[in-house]
Amino acid sequence: MTTMTNKKVLISGAGVAGLALAYWLDHHGFRATVVERAPQVRHGGYAVDFRGEALDVLDRMDLLEPVRALDTAMGDAAMVDAEGRQYATLPAAVFAGDLEVPKGELTRLLYTAAEDRAEYLFDDSVSAVEQDADGVDVTFENGPPRRFDLLVGADGLHSRTRALVFGPEERFVHSLGIHTAIFSLPNHLGLDHTGQLYVSPGKAANLFAGDAGGRARAALHFAAEELAHDRHDIGEQQRIVAERFAGEGWEIPRLLTEMRDAEDFWFDANAQVVMDTWARGRVALLGDAGYCAAPTSGRGTSQALIGAYVLAGELAQARGDHGAAFTAYENAMRPFVTEHQALGREGAERFSMPAPTQEMLDMLAANAPENTHPEMVRLPDYGSSQGEPEPAAG
Ligand SMILES: Cc1cc2nc3c(=O)[nH]c(=O)nc-3n(C[C@H](O)[C@H](O)[C@H](O)COP(=O)(O)OP(=O)(O)OC[C@H]3O[C@@H](n4cnc5c(N)ncnc54)[C@H](O)[C@@H]3O)c2cc1C
Repeated sequence: MTTMTNKKVLISGAGVAGLALAYWLDHHGFRATVVERAPQVRHGGYAVDFRGEALDVLDRMDLLEPVRALDTAMGDAAMVDAEGRQYATLPAAVFAGDLEVPKGELTRLLYTAAEDRAEYLFDDSVSAVEQDADGVDVTFENGPPRRFDLLVGADGLHSRTRALVFGPEERFVHSLGIHTAIFSLPNHLGLDHTGQLYVSPGKAANLFAGDAGGRARAALHFAAEELAHDRHDIGEQQRIVAERFAGEGWEIPRLLTEMRDAEDFWFDANAQVVMDTWARGRVALLGDAGYCAAPTSGRGTSQALIGAYVLAGELAQARGDHGAAFTAYENAMRPFVTEHQALGREGAERFSMPAPTQEMLDMLAANAPENTHPEMVRLPDYGSSQGEPEPAAG
């Protein structure tokens, strides 16, 4: 009798990447366990847009229609001056992609689809990893140690898995020189499927809302290379943002007041993860953990979904040879990621330009990635096997 190998996979992180991977691993007959640091899947957050092949992945998960139903259907937005007067129109094509949905809602849908397909360990995190030729011994912060066949780090930009297995964050995470704060607030301007954007030297802010009755979400961006701050100290982060935007016009004073009451405040550097390889032995990285393209690329969610689909499919196809699967995954994803990271850097460079004219905005719309960057990944069909993956050859 042959022994099954590489069936038990631990996924660190229940974000877009981790949940999609749990879904696809189960689809191919693997047994996934997902460990998530938060007490439940994260519901809050900004809107994410996605494009091209990512919609195809959602379709193959039977999630395209439910996701389409969440489309914020943003129309064009207004560029405004310090007094709130509109001086140009920003076409929706520049910021909304093929489909734009609140990230929390997307995560909720993915969790519904993947909930019964994996074991979940919430409120916990990997704290140590040791691998040998046959498996990976994982120590958790709270739960008892366990052994898995493979470990996938899908734990985001500040991935613990990456730090434990590949090396310290400073080696791989590169700031693009912009920091961003995002939070929701009452829609006091009555914005209806639109937004307003305000630009001043080294700073930009925007306010968007899906419908006049719902909440609005604000984003405040400012240029800063490295910022020394505690990633878990929200009070300190809010003080930094308030200092940077002190004295600014438009709705900024109101946004700064609302920011302090926001329950979903988020703050981080716009950064990219650049690595020579996304796998080491029995451990691989997925999504932002391995190849974050930065929010300025507008492609991170697409990468996470496509990466999960490809990684699970390659593991199934490699029939137990995880090394071959990781190489094939990397070969399929690398050109796509390189292109997206270039888009992320281009987006960040635009940040240092003066307030755009209508001509520049129209040009941006004409050059929107949908038009200029045709599909870069051809999604292979890995089959619909619900059966067991084949045993390893040796
Ligand atoms: C402001 C902003 C705007 C964006 N806009 C867009 C957009 O318009 N379009 C787009 O495509 N993308 C956008 N993105 C990027 C997109 O959100 C990410 O690329 C995408 O969500 C990556 O998914 P992920 O699952 O790899 O990582 P994440 O979504 O970061 O998920 C990581 C998960 O791992 C968990 N975790 C972290 N550490 C641990 C640990 N030690 N143990 C266990 N669990 C852990 C986290 O709690 C989280 O649930 C934006 C990102 C930001 C920040």
